Amino acid sequence: MSLKITDVRAICTAPQNIPLVVVKVETSEPGLYGLGCATYTQRFLTVAHEVEHYMKPLLVGKDPTRIEDIWQMVTVSPYWRNGPVLGNALSGVDMALWDIAGKRANMPLYELFGGKVREGVRVYRHADGRTMQEVGDRVQAFVEDGVQVVRVQFGGYGGNGGARQSIEDMKPEGACPGAYYDPLQYQNSVIELFAAMRERFGYGLELCHDVHEHLEPTEAIRLAKALEPYRLFFLEDALPPEQGAWFAQMRQQTCTPIAMGELYNNPSEYVPLIQGRLIDYIRCHISQIGGLTPARKLAHLCEAFGVRTAWHGPGDVSPVGHAANIHLDLSSWNFGIQEWAGLTPALEDVFPGCPQLRHGYVYVSDKPGLGIDIDENLAAKFPCSEALPTWTNSRRPDGTLARP
Ligand code: MG
Repeated sequence: MSLKITDVRAICTAPQNIPLVVVKVETSEPGLYGLGCATYTQRFLTVAHEVEHYMKPLLVGKDPTRIEDIWQMVTVSPYWRNGPVLGNALSGVDMALWDIAGKRANMPLYELFGGKVREGVRVYRHADGRTMQEVGDRVQAFVEDGVQVVRVQFGGYGGNGGARQSIEDMKPEGACPGAYYDPLQYQNSVIELFAAMRERFGYGLELCHDVHEHLEPTEAIRLAKALEPYRLFFLEDALPPEQGAWFAQMRQQTCTPIAMGELYNNPSEYVPLIQGRLIDYIRCHISQIGGLTPARKLAHLCEAFGVRTAWHGPGDVSPVGHAANIHLDLSSWNFGIQEWAGLTPALEDVFPGCPQLRHGYVYVSDKPGLGIDIDENLAAKFPCSEALPTWTNSRRPDGTLARP
């Protein structure tokens, strides 16, 4: 009897207080199943509903070895496509099918993808702090652990660290609640931060920064130029996806390397930037774009244009998603860097076989497929909070909503 999909389920769990969604695809072969990351933490219930109510009826009875055909079918089934909910639900299924393929071949996924081109995956870590001293001390701790690339953020995303005027003094009467920041004080503080970090650590350490789309296009270009003397590894999300056409102007004016893309869902957002060689690193969140099938194609497209990969790897990627990132990193020649948020002991207990960080490099399990499992009984002990996110309600001093 040929292999069939028998069940598709969404498992929601929050061992680190961040809602995660993992899809489990079961098959007609006893004990053969796959796991995939479908984490859209801000709308996890919507993704879980899509998986249980639409993916399951669409996929039960289908042949799990037909990964490409299933990806195309699931993509067009709802007619409207390329959104974050459908992309994540599709990713959960897609990664699970690749996990099943690896298990059937008795190979770790990186081997199925063509084999290792490096032994470990170099990562960057986040050094955030409220003061220069705090950021610097976190950088120091990472360096002592062998980390070679560090992201430095002062006072959070576009925060008012180093501000000469408090945000409270700048607001109009009756201002709405929100995560306020001042673009001018933010730009000044980032330049001062990089000057301080280079003063303390010199130039033998790679440093990067995430603008989190907090600036207007010309402000972003001015910041990228002002940061040139500090030789960034990359400047990330200097512009929102809606203003991607401005990267042509930025590229002409600065040699600061540009990373972009964690918010992209649609190939029409990133293809022109790659084709035009307007960015240095593609930062897509693999589950947002629909899983490993499109991510492999994207990595290959980037290779042709000299763009390197830097897949999004924050706390709102499940360990299953991190494992998928690492398998792709290990086997992609044009891999650049991997963001690594770090895993807590609770996450490692719920997901046996988590990738491991040692001396600045992450390693995956060599077990077949993704090499990671989920303890469903333990996962159920960490329910997800349905509280709405507040940090996405970002505002400028006069109260105008900004991109988060
Ligand atoms: Mg980012």
